[in-house]
Amino acid sequence: MKIFGKDKVVYYFSPDNKPAYFAEDGETFWVETDDCYGGQIKTANDLRTQIDISIMDAAVGPISISNATPADTLCVEVMDIQFASQGVMVTSVGLGVLGKMIKTPNTKIIKIKDGYAHFSDRIKLPLTPMIGVMGVSPKEGRIHCATPGNHGGNMDTKEIKIGSKIYLPVFVEGADLGISDLHACMGDGELSGTGIETAGRVCLKVSVIKNKRKARPIIETADSIYTLATEATYQEAIEVAVADMVAILQEKLQLEFPDAYRLLSATCDIGISQVVNGVYTLKVRAPRYVIKNESVF
Ligand code: CA
Ligand code: ZN
Repeated sequence: MKIFGKDKVVYYFSPDNKPAYFAEDGETFWVETDDCYGGQIKTANDLRTQIDISIMDAAVGPISISNATPADTLCVEVMDIQFASQGVMVTSVGLGVLGKMIKTPNTKIIKIKDGYAHFSDRIKLPLTPMIGVMGVSPKEGRIHCATPGNHGGNMDTKEIKIGSKIYLPVFVEGADLGISDLHACMGDGELSGTGIETAGRVCLKVSVIKNKRKARPIIETADSIYTLATEATYQEAIEVAVADMVAILQEKLQLEFPDAYRLLSATCDIGISQVVNGVYTLKVRAPRYVIKNESVF
């Protein structure tokens, strides 16, 4: 199996990037990645104020996938996520929902061992492995890897986990997938501004769905389907994610809008992916039974 090393990264998702790695439609491979700080924080003495944050979330890749062309969908199935032996959580002035309450920056190193993050002597947390940054090249321009959007990117969505399929719209030849920002643990919202940030490696299987594309990322887990929307405000993000799910219900179940809207209200949940990346990423979850266990595509 190919291993794509962490020495080749991009700081922006952009069609101007040259592919660093190549994979076939249907191939399974490993991607190694540093933590979101590019390994700049190694001890509790390393503060967020002392590092270069312009390189945060640098994505390993781009990985060009054969057969992926604009108007297709790239399906990325997460087969495995493995971590280094420690993670880090920083606090810093202005960071996270309560950033105003932070007076001085502070760094916490958290050991990862035996399936747990050892938060303190008294508190150990079962790992909830996830990938914070998974994106493809947008059609034009460039989007920093720390920013989420319709191309994916820094979605910080905890359902990007082992067993999930993440569907990304393809905008350029080869899709140009990039990966980074593994979290050993993170709750919805990423409320203090970070998960338990760690280096590691992920095993991914990529496949191309030809000539079908949604406007934004979609996630399928064993029991749920999620539409994701990233917008400047909560309200806009809610509207977009809800409208996307209603459209899926209409299409898959051949419903008129009022019935799809009612079905949404009767069965679907709104959720928050992240509120700390300058924009808001929200998700709408439909239980799989609603669309009879079919794929969205
Ligand atoms: Ca992130
Ligand atoms: Zn992160």
